[in-house]
Amino acid sequence: MIGLCVGQPSTYWNTFNAGNLRAFELCAVCPLPAAGECGPQLEPLGLIVAGIAYDDKGVALARCPKCHYPMPRRKGYRNGVCGRAACPDGAKRRKRQQARAKAGIRHKPSMFREQIRELTLARVRRADIAEQLRLTPRGVREIQYQLGLTGEKLARALAEHQESTTSRKAA
Ligand SMILES: [Zn+2]
Repeated sequence: MIGLCVGQPSTYWNTFNAGNLRAFELCAVCPLPAAGECGPQLEPLGLIVAGIAYDDKGVALARCPKCHYPMPRRKGYRNGVCGRAACPDGAKRRKRQQARAKAGIRHKPSMFREQIRELTLARVRRADIAEQLRLTPRGVREIQYQLGLTGEKLARALAEHQESTTSRKAA
């Protein structure tokens, strides 16, 4: 018995190759998987085997419901996320991101550590900081937590801050 992949461009079976759909098609009608001669027992890495795409770690990947290509795994997404530029799903996601950027919402509170520190020590409310820096209050809180500017620590930091500014004025 001979696999249908024999004589085909082997790159089609490299996971995330543009030829993956052709590989899936051929695997679906190939006699080898049915005969148990091709399958996960081959411990595939970064390859399509018996119609399943595996990533570099050998984890089986789900396929995109829109474009049917394999989707890379991504934290927080059970089935991964389609990363293909040509995918209609990806296009929708990019549009959403662009709209967010246009609305001026930034996504990296860590870029604003210093401003968050200053505003917090100036006793500006978290919601106001978020609005001013165009961040979410949750993102601001996360940075405040990292900076030790929440709860009891905040009270201490504010007291110290006040002290240092008053002594500076006095001097
Ligand atoms: Zn897709």
